[in-house]
Amino acid sequence: MRFEVTILGNGSASPAPGRHQTAHILNVREQFFMVDCGEGMRARLVRAGVSPLKIGAIFISHIHGDHVYGLMPLVASLGLSGKQTPLKIFGPAELRKLIDFFQHDFGNPVLFDIEFTPVDTTRSQLVYENRSMEVFSVPLRHRTPTTGYVFREKPDTQGHKSRSYAFLSDTLPSPKAARIVSELVPEGVDLMYHESTFADADRRLARETGHSTALQAAKIAGAARARKLLIGHFSSRYKDPSALEAEARTAFAETYVAGEFETFSVPLAKAVSVSPEKD
Ligand SMILES: [Zn+2]
Ligand SMILES: [Zn+2]
Repeated sequence: MRFEVTILGNGSASPAPGRHQTAHILNVREQFFMVDCGEGMRARLVRAGVSPLKIGAIFISHIHGDHVYGLMPLVASLGLSGKQTPLKIFGPAELRKLIDFFQHDFGNPVLFDIEFTPVDTTRSQLVYENRSMEVFSVPLRHRTPTTGYVFREKPDTQGHKSRSYAFLSDTLPSPKAARIVSELVPEGVDLMYHESTFADADRRLARETGHSTALQAAKIAGAARARKLLIGHFSSRYKDPSALEAEARTAFAETYVAGEFETFSVPLAKAVSVSPEKD
């Protein structure tokens, strides 16, 4: 009964050797979800051993190339793979134009349905649910309408703890987003991914481009009472992201570089029952 996130890319818009653009695969009890879809994702899915046909839904944070350039090739390859069931895509409303073009006006239109659901990037709301999990949006502060997502298991009948994952990219540091995450997951989100494009010494650049520094991401993770922080979306100017990890750990000890093809798992555990206090 897995709950795990596999990182397919931890770079930002500019190419850097060995780094690719943002895309995460979330496996919740063998249901697969993709979060953002940067360039070149088909080959990366093959290497990660995930069949694109297994992806039940795709959640897009915003329409900057490094988060959507992989979407259309992925949809095309699903067509070639013989997909027949509908594909669910969630993201800012403007994404519909891109999907409509590809579905109807491109040379080889896809033959399965794409069910696009626009996500209001100004407020937090339930955007998707199935029997075992639910997904909430989290408004972010970037240069274009942007939303994060919180994925949370529903309580099961065996008394297991609900596991959770928050994805926050791209954004200026947002105490409001931290508060929303802490309200959605009061016991503390198990895994939080937060972009850390810059080191804190370059915080002026971060501010100008609508991004966060590693230290700022760490403070947001602390404010949200997250249990573990994954950082990524590194600017190509930093050759070694471990310096960003070290910087974040000064404010949030449980910080880890979201290494490409690394998988971060949350084990299944019994919910802790709080016994009444004795005097
Ligand atoms: Zn980006
Ligand atoms: Zn962006």
